[in-house]
Formats: sequence, C-alpha cells, structure tokens
Amino acid sequence: MEPIRDFDPEGDIIALSFATRLLLTDLDKSLIVERSFESLADFGRTDRVGIFLLDQTGEKLIAAGGMISEPHTDGTIEFPVEGAVCEEVLSSKLPAQYPVTYIEGIPWPTREGGEPGRHCLCAPLVAANNNSIGIVTFDHPEDLTLTPIIMQPLIVLLTVVAIALETTRLFQQAVYDGLTGLYVRRYFDLRLSEEENRIKRYGGKLAILITDIDHFKKFNDQYGHQQGDTVLRETAEILKKSVRKSLDAVCRYGGEEFVVIMPDTDLAGATVVAERIRQRCQEHDFPGADRPLKVTLSGGLAYMDQDTHVPGKELLERADSLLYKAKKGGRNQIWIQEEDG
Ligand code: GH3
Ligand code: MG
Ligand code: MG
Repeated sequence: MEPIRDFDPEGDIIALSFATRLLLTDLDKSLIVERSFESLADFGRTDRVGIFLLDQTGEKLIAAGGMISEPHTDGTIEFPVEGAVCEEVLSSKLPAQYPVTYIEGIPWPTREGGEPGRHCLCAPLVAANNNSIGIVTFDHPEDLTLTPIIMQPLIVLLTVVAIALETTRLFQQAVYDGLTGLYVRRYFDLRLSEEENRIKRYGGKLAILITDIDHFKKFNDQYGHQQGDTVLRETAEILKKSVRKSLDAVCRYGGEEFVVIMPDTDLAGATVVAERIRQRCQEHDFPGADRPLKVTLSGGLAYMDQDTHVPGKELLERADSLLYKAKKGGRNQIWIQEEDG
C-alpha cells in the first residue's frame, strides 16, 4: 500500500503546529528523533524515512535511526560525506531527488542504478547560522510529483527538526563536561541555588561532597596527560555509579575536583556514599601501560537542613575547608562536618 495521502489544509496546519510544539519543547535527543520520524513520514508522504546527522568533524553522516514502519534508533550506520551524492545537498542546502538504494531498509541516495520505480528525496537539515547539520531521506514512487503544496510544509517541518536537534546538542554541550560526561560547574551553581531555595521555603536536607584526586599533578608528570584523562573519566564513572541515579548530581567542578549534590540526604546517609566513593576509587585498577595504576581521592562533606540553613556558597566553602583538612591529614580520607554544623 502506498502511504500517499491527499493535501489536507486544516489537518496539516494542526499536525504541523502540534509537531512544532512537541519537538521544540524537549531536550532528549532520542525522543526528538523518534517524534520527528512520525511527522516526517506523514508530511513526506512515505513510510520509509532516514535521518542522518553529521558527526563533530563534519566528515561523516551517522544514521540517527531509520523508519520503515517503526522508528528505530540504533545509530550504527555511517557514511563518509566526501564523494557521497548527498554532499551536494549538504552544501547547496536544497532538497534534490536521486535514485534510491536501501541500507537496512533506510533510503539512501545513489548516483545511478537504484531501485526501479523508486526515488529518494534527500533534504538538508539546516539549523542556526545556516549550518547543515545532516540530511533526511525519503523513499518515494518515481511518479510522485513533489508539488509546492507537499514541499512547503515539509520544509517548515525539516527546519523545526533541525533546530530541535541543534538545540539539544547545544544544551548537552553547555551542561555536560566533554571529557567526563559529568555536569559542568555552571550547572552545579544553578542546581545548588535551586536546592538552597527549596530548603529555605519547603524544608528538607542537603549534603554536598567535594572530592579532589590526590597528587594528580605527580600522576600526570609520571604517566602523561592522556593517562591522566583516563583516570578522570574512570573516576567520574565511579562517582556516577556510587550515587542515586536521578536524584543526585555529580559535577566536574574543576580540573580534578568533583562535587556531588545529594538532596534529601542526611549526614549519615551522605557519609556512607562519600566513603563508598573513596573506597571504590582506592580499589579501582586504572589502566596503565604494563600494570594497573592506583589513585586515591580526598573529600569534604558538608550538610544543612532548614534549621541550619546557610547560603549555598557557604555550604560549599565549608565542604572545601573540610577537603583541605583531609589533604593536610594525609589524603585518601573524607572529612565530615560535625553533626551540629
Ligand atoms: P593534591 O593532592 O593536593 O590535590 O595535589 P594535586 O597534584 O592533585 O593538586 P594540584 O592542584 O597541584 O594539581 C592538579 C593537577 O590536575 C594539575 C593538572 O595538570 C591536573 N589536571 C587538571 N585538569 C586536568 C585534565 O583535564 N586532564 C589531566 N590529565 N590533568 C588535569
Ligand atoms: Mg588534587
Ligand atoms: Mg585540585
């Protein structure tokens, strides 16, 4: 059955408005991709759609997923841009029709040959600053005429999809640290002030842990910066795995300094977490050239509730001075705030 449908002005405007709202109000990439497929298939008059996004270098197109009848987003298919037919589409920023082949069922434009009786409409995803961020491919019967009435709403939708995906990427970049995948300091500052306000108004508890890798300068000098980066990545993993997944926030506060925000956690509970982190780090075998390498960390743990409320900045300073004491005290230890503050 060909899924081609008639022009439906009222229905199209409602669908476009709905898709725009849905796509531009979320920041979850896989959700956006999944939702885009349905609208792209509908407005693109097909049930076979591919979304391919440029990688960081701009040299590869990676399938964000393909839709045959169900959206799937495994992202394992990739092609070099150079020499590919769609290179023209990426640079001209204009949609074009080509013969079509299929990769795992996903339409892909080719220069010659291709599936008899079928066509591939290849359209660019153009986002802010007139940048092409990828392409969308549609499988069509050869005799489908792409009139302006079909193309114009589709181009609006493609722009919405491009901006939604670009916004997600920019958000990820602004919020997550590139090396460790942890939240960046700016995000930490925001979260801390949110938590501070929450406790002031509604009560509750908050614990903050600062940790800092011991003698990390020496480690870098001895084993090299790259090995040091591996330690940072693996330490970040230890931290992430040691806290409550969607409640606590782990941030890279500085070079080799990490902060954990633990809302609704009392001092006893936070102490367990902090000790777990210290111990897991001490026990972890970090990869070395010929033998596992060892690293430890020190930490400071501060706590407040509604009665002992202080500004977030002060709580952080308290944790930091406890960290300083842990360093002075011989490292590989967590210093914890006294119960009464
Ligand atoms: P201490 O036990 O007192 O914390 O000593 P330290 O050597 O860890 O502390 P110091 O602050 O003197 O040195 C921090 C080191 O962390 C220096 C810097 O080269 C390293 N560092 C910071 N950011 C990165 C990074 O992104 N990658 C790597 N490999 N090293 C980093
Ligand atoms: Mg250090
Ligand atoms: Mg430090």
